[in-house]
Amino acid sequence: MADTQTRLDEMIARLRERGHRLTPQRMAVLRILASSEEHPSVEQIYERVKVDFPMTSLATIYKTVTLLREMGEVLELGFSDDSNRYDGNKPYPHPHLICVKCKKIVDLEVASLSELPQVVAQSTGYQIVSQRLDFFGVCPQCRGK
Ligand SMILES: [Zn+2]
Ligand SMILES: [Zn+2]
Repeated sequence: MADTQTRLDEMIARLRERGHRLTPQRMAVLRILASSEEHPSVEQIYERVKVDFPMTSLATIYKTVTLLREMGEVLELGFSDDSNRYDGNKPYPHPHLICVKCKKIVDLEVASLSELPQVVAQSTGYQIVSQRLDFFGVCPQCRGK
């Protein structure tokens, strides 16, 4: 996991380079995405930003997240039957572990998985341009219930 402050500074610099305004609400969204604890959905980001900025609209959060996604500063994890989730801490493809009960998503730091794209490329002749690897399970907290 990248350092939260480092990611925050990187995202701020990228937005400034492109001449985007950094409102306090937008800064709050960036801060949440920089840590991306449990990979929040837009709705979850909205709930957290609303605590400090009650006037914030869901549309504002969507706009900021979409902008960052287009800039490649946030990774979007799409789900057909659930809200999309976001990772601004590691904005590039990486394996995830998803709890089917509480819907928490964590990064999967397993060394052997990092070689997988290369193995796939070598064995198939494909040039791998992206990847999506999700593991589904029941987290220790949910198992304890
Ligand atoms: Zn769980
Ligand atoms: Zn992630």
